[in-house]
Amino acid sequence: MATPGAGRYAPSPSGDLHLGNLRTAVVAWLLARSTGRRFLLRIEDLDAVRSDPAVALRQRADLAALGLDFDPPLVVQSERCGAYEAALEQLGDRVYECFCTRREIAEAASAPHGRVGHYPGTCASLSVAERARRRAERPAALRVRAAAATSTVWDRWAGEVTEVVDDFVVRRNDGTAAYNLAVVVDDGAAGVDQVVRGDDLLDSSPRQAWLARELGLSAPSYAHVPLAVNAAGKRLAKRDGAVTLADLAAVGVGPAEVLGRIAVSLRLAEVGEPVTVAVLLDRFDPGALPREPWVVA
Ligand code: GLU
Repeated sequence: MATPGAGRYAPSPSGDLHLGNLRTAVVAWLLARSTGRRFLLRIEDLDAVRSDPAVALRQRADLAALGLDFDPPLVVQSERCGAYEAALEQLGDRVYECFCTRREIAEAASAPHGRVGHYPGTCASLSVAERARRRAERPAALRVRAAAATSTVWDRWAGEVTEVVDDFVVRRNDGTAAYNLAVVVDDGAAGVDQVVRGDDLLDSSPRQAWLARELGLSAPSYAHVPLAVNAAGKRLAKRDGAVTLADLAAVGVGPAEVLGRIAVSLRLAEVGEPVTVAVLLDRFDPGALPREPWVVA
């Protein structure tokens, strides 16, 4: 029998999960399990400064407290540098060294014809001598040579999303694999064919799908979940009060009640109704999920 595909939840251990993150995890679990997929957990801890192993442990405990289960193996990105280097090697001369500072990129991108957030291609065709000179000044990042390809993905809720792919970074100048590379390599290696995450990452999907194809992998299906926002309509954050399981427990709201609130927000339960993830799985209808942000008041 063919191995079933997999879904995943991939938090960065830079802070405790808040209600919006937990809700996205619930949706990812429901979509994976309702389609017979494995469900994997990946710790995205490549940012050594902001990642904290104690936070990663709390995130796992919080997900378990809601009743979400994961299939092995647990993937920890900081242990996978060899896989990222192998992918870079595979890309060969489809990557190039970039010596630009953030400031130089911002200045070039704000020039006429520049596109905000897109790399303007400054280092794309440096001569060998110029590269040697620049290497002595600062370490290089690596960027893909995307030649302004367009890439289209299909998102379960947003529909068709087409973007021009810029020459994005695949290895940062501190030698660490960049987020876009690590995600694609890890999803490919684990057989992830269903990506569910917050819709702040919708824009990165065409780049990632493009990179997957460059690496000979198939692009996954996508489902980007609308974010949770506060009463003012701003993205939910720690300062918005009791938003993590620990904060909520401190004011007498346990994980079962939190799951209930999440279920109500997904239109899968009535207010105050006790639920479990198994009950939610029975009721789950992806087509009926709200498409607008969840206002956590
Ligand atoms: N680590 C990312 C985050 O916590 C998610 C990456 C992904 O799902 O592709 O926002």
